[in-house]
Amino acid sequence: MNYSSIFSSIYSQIDHLSNRGELATYIPELGNVSPNKFGVSLLSISGEEYSFGDFDERFSIQSIAKVLALVLAYASENEKLWKRVGVEPSGTAFNSLVQLEYDMGIPRNPFINAGAIVISDILISQLKNPKADFIAFVRSLSGNNSIDYCERIAKSEKNSGYRNAALVNLMKSFGNIENEVNVVLDFYFNLCSIQMSCSELTQTFLFLANKGINPNNNERILSLSKTKRVNAVMQLCGFYDEAGEFSFKVGLPGKSGVGGGIIAILPNQYCIGVWSPKLNRKGNSYKGMKFLELFTTKTETSIF
Ligand code: GLU
Repeated sequence: MNYSSIFSSIYSQIDHLSNRGELATYIPELGNVSPNKFGVSLLSISGEEYSFGDFDERFSIQSIAKVLALVLAYASENEKLWKRVGVEPSGTAFNSLVQLEYDMGIPRNPFINAGAIVISDILISQLKNPKADFIAFVRSLSGNNSIDYCERIAKSEKNSGYRNAALVNLMKSFGNIENEVNVVLDFYFNLCSIQMSCSELTQTFLFLANKGINPNNNERILSLSKTKRVNAVMQLCGFYDEAGEFSFKVGLPGKSGVGGGIIAILPNQYCIGVWSPKLNRKGNSYKGMKFLELFTTKTETSIF
């Protein structure tokens, strides 16, 4: 399929829309991004790549990195991981505290902030040098050694991350955090600060479209069953309190981040990454979502 011409025709359609939404200024550094950036990249499991716009400009992938944290923790923790975090959509905002108290400190899923903070805690206990080992894992997935944390963004979030501090403390009080809260928060803020381009995102996430095997070097990252499960959690919980809408309109498992990025996967076929920084009211990229809706409609591809 000629995805390049499809990309430009969809872009000209959405370019006419007013660029609605807001930048995620609650993390001050994210407010400094140019709001009209737009990039998209698709990588097929046979290695064909199609890209458009600002596809090779790096941005803050934020919550998209939560999927990689889950993958690494799940690979060695196995099913006992699900005793500390659930697999249900939350139905509340990504940073909500309300549900966590009712659920006795067990987050609904690994992609809301509380869930990713528990996964960060698990990784800190598992890894010898947590931050170095984690970024080494991301680099090996992407085949790119220059991918890194962004100190500026991590610091900006650290200085304003009062809600995440409240979440980790609440969970610690319920006994669901093993390590020091400051150490856990530092890991979590760094995790969210990783920067990648759309094209690097597709390289990194392609194994989830390829039965858990990295097609670049044939390395198995996750078993078939675990790959299915990670994709299932993305389908149900990957888009904050808008996962139903994304499923309904786009029909692919995926994950968004407040930096305006979205990654989505069509098992056995492709991985697509899109970036447009302005977010809708639910915290998902406004144009990114529209683009993917038109893309899966036009190409008649979806998991359903
Ligand atoms: N670092 C962000 C936060 O904790 C992640 C949010 C996101 O991308 O969903 O608020």
